[in-house]
Amino acid sequence: PTMAHSQALLVLENFIGGKFVPCSSYIDSYNPSTGDVYCRVPDSGKEEVEAAVKAAKDAFPIWSSKSPSERSQILNKLADLIEHDLEAFAQAESKDQGKTITFARTVDIPRAVHNFRFFASSILHHVTECTEMPTMGCVHYTSRAPVGVAGLISPWNLPLYLLTWKIAPAIACGNTVVAKPSEMTSVTAWMMCKLLEKAGVPPGVVNVVLGTGAKAGEALVCHPDVPLISFTGSTLTAQRITERSAPHCKRLSLELGGKNPAIVFDDADLSQCIPTTVRSSFANQGEICLCTSRIFVQRGIYNEFLKRFVAEAKKWKTGSPSDPTVSVGALISKEHLEKVRNYVKKAQAEGARVLCGEGVDPLALPPDNQKGYFMLPTVITEVKDESCCMQEEIFGPVTCVVAFDTEEEVIKRANSVKYGLAATVWSSNVGRVHRVAHRLQSGLVWTNCWLVRDLNLPFGGMKASGIGREGAKDSYEFFTEVKTITIKH
Ligand code: NAD
Repeated sequence: PTMAHSQALLVLENFIGGKFVPCSSYIDSYNPSTGDVYCRVPDSGKEEVEAAVKAAKDAFPIWSSKSPSERSQILNKLADLIEHDLEAFAQAESKDQGKTITFARTVDIPRAVHNFRFFASSILHHVTECTEMPTMGCVHYTSRAPVGVAGLISPWNLPLYLLTWKIAPAIACGNTVVAKPSEMTSVTAWMMCKLLEKAGVPPGVVNVVLGTGAKAGEALVCHPDVPLISFTGSTLTAQRITERSAPHCKRLSLELGGKNPAIVFDDADLSQCIPTTVRSSFANQGEICLCTSRIFVQRGIYNEFLKRFVAEAKKWKTGSPSDPTVSVGALISKEHLEKVRNYVKKAQAEGARVLCGEGVDPLALPPDNQKGYFMLPTVITEVKDESCCMQEEIFGPVTCVVAFDTEEEVIKRANSVKYGLAATVWSSNVGRVHRVAHRLQSGLVWTNCWLVRDLNLPFGGMKASGIGREGAKDSYEFFTEVKTITIKH
């Protein structure tokens, strides 16, 4: 890889105890749309994690004793400050991750702002339980208290969006945190740290330690003074985290991968279904845990669906993330691009057909992006349910379309993967929609829409897609310890 021409490299620092701290060693971070190294990220390990946990522990007594409304005001201030710098954050996220500037501007950063505002509000509205036992002369009630230092580990696909989805509830509940974003996308977390003091977040309440999962991540997971870990990432890493944290009996929230089906019945409104399913397949280069990657279409409309779906997919322009007419930016890394391409090759070797995209259509890129990690939206058909393309999470702009005959059959096939995160059902028959939604093994089911979220309600997956849920009430429960108190009068 070439160094970014004459531009100075961006050098990030850890944020510990309210101060930016340099690290003794660094790792290179690439601009996915050019292939250049443009940024250096601390390669933190045990020592840095130790310092961050200590800072978080020291900050806990004061932060946890603040009232919810005091914390709420600080979170709202932080939301305002991020919103004020929205464009700078969006530019940074797009450059660091490869996503289009349009997506960063309209999804990533607005959602990060919303995460803080949402938990600033929701923390004010929780009530605890109370029961009476007149014959014993007793009342029972529950009280909730923050747990301590929370370890927060997030992935590269929606960097600030997913990190703030953890930081906001954790600190709103009165915990202090040590956050470890993905080593591939650390820039916006570092930028956010610059706003914490101005927002009124006391030193040590939010610490950010940058580095790899193997070094910094594991040090956090294994630290005896971090009683809870909220992790979003792959199922494989979650297994490792579960093993490493087991000796400490840590509380874990695990938000993992998906192999999400879309089920299109013959009474679906295709004018809605097709553009939405193209979006659910290819938004953010297909790098969203909720992206559709298996589309089951009822036989009667299969040919028409395929024709219209491919035509719509071809409208999605791939190219420079800063070009506002582009819908598909760069994938996160060279290795990831290679992995995604290999899935398409494997499908072809098994006899599947690639209708558009990779290896079929020409990919024209601007001169500056020739070494970027780009791939066209790719639609595969005539693929067997047992194929790795129908079983494994690809996490790229690749989707498979297959036909089905009956409701019973499609439910069985949709459920026949190890994952269970999100499913989409398209039908105008309200009875069927409810029936199918109830039988799908999936933490989220969207019917006749995709990615419409009310943050009040639980988010999370079944089976290999995760353990636990996050959302207003769920995050509150995860990030607090409950106590039952009995008073005899
Ligand atoms: P990943 O598991 O490789 O990494 C996620 C984070 O864990 C990174 O910060 C990484 O540095 C860290 N990590 C890696 N090994 C570690 C270890 N041994 N100990 C502690 N930390 C470790 O995942 P990724 O490739 O960054 O992200 C893509 C995956 O995330 C996909 O599987 C995707 O489906 C999943 N994801 C899930 C959700 C969800 O909400 N369910 C959302 C987004 C992404």
